[in-house]
Amino acid sequence: MAEPTSVEALGPVAGVLRDLKAHLAWQRDDAGAELYGARDRPAAPAAPSGAPASSPGPAGQLGLLEPVAEPPPMERRTLEEIRAELGDCRRCKLCQGRRQIVFGVGNPRARLVFVGEGPGAEEDAQGLPFVGAAGQLLTKMIQAMGLRREDVYICNVVKCRPPGNRNPEPEEIAACEPFLRAQLVSIQPEVVVALGKFAAQTLLREGTPISRLRGVWRVYQGMKLMPTFHPAYLLRNPPGEKKKAWEDLKAVMAELGLPRPAPPP
Ligand code: URA
Repeated sequence: MAEPTSVEALGPVAGVLRDLKAHLAWQRDDAGAELYGARDRPAAPAAPSGAPASSPGPAGQLGLLEPVAEPPPMERRTLEEIRAELGDCRRCKLCQGRRQIVFGVGNPRARLVFVGEGPGAEEDAQGLPFVGAAGQLLTKMIQAMGLRREDVYICNVVKCRPPGNRNPEPEEIAACEPFLRAQLVSIQPEVVVALGKFAAQTLLREGTPISRLRGVWRVYQGMKLMPTFHPAYLLRNPPGEKKKAWEDLKAVMAELGLPRPAPPP
């Protein structure tokens, strides 16, 4: 009887199989929904302050699905140039239902950037990220860190509102991701906070659930990245989760050398 064929032995077909498996995992979209495929491993240990965290561990630990390789470095452009390139974007179907593109707001030289998932109804109406209920909580979190919204930069993985606030789909994320990356490369913040599963999994290009990603320093294009829970999740869930998110933000404050935190929001 013929030996079972290993995925590696399939050569180029292996990539297709990996993509297919990641896509099916995405479609499931359960508690641990996966963008790039789950890896049943504990999150990497936190990097000590000042030292960049390591990338995901050796391939041998990762099982069949491995993180997609980081894209090559990108030329640094201004936010205005990036916005101009986005134009009246028709790159995915989200353009059909949006009222406005929600590009991002804040300090173009921010030391800290927050990345969310995508605009909701209020953001779509105002053309600004995080101005609805979740945005009010995010604003409180920023203020509790001793900062103002104007001090930081806030943007999303997708720049157009998914209809009915559904989750963004992989091809929508893929169409928008280069613009998010360009924004971060432009701003060059010291720390990026990825709010929720979509931001964390998109930036890190892996499908580890947010419950395991959060609170652990990672590196994104040379910037320190802290995944934490999305404010909308915090609004729906018990206070214990808020406490964890606040721990994550305290770690960010320590990294940025910000003074003693105010009580959590
Ligand atoms: N949720 C997000 O992820 N982004 C917003 O801008 C608003 C709500």
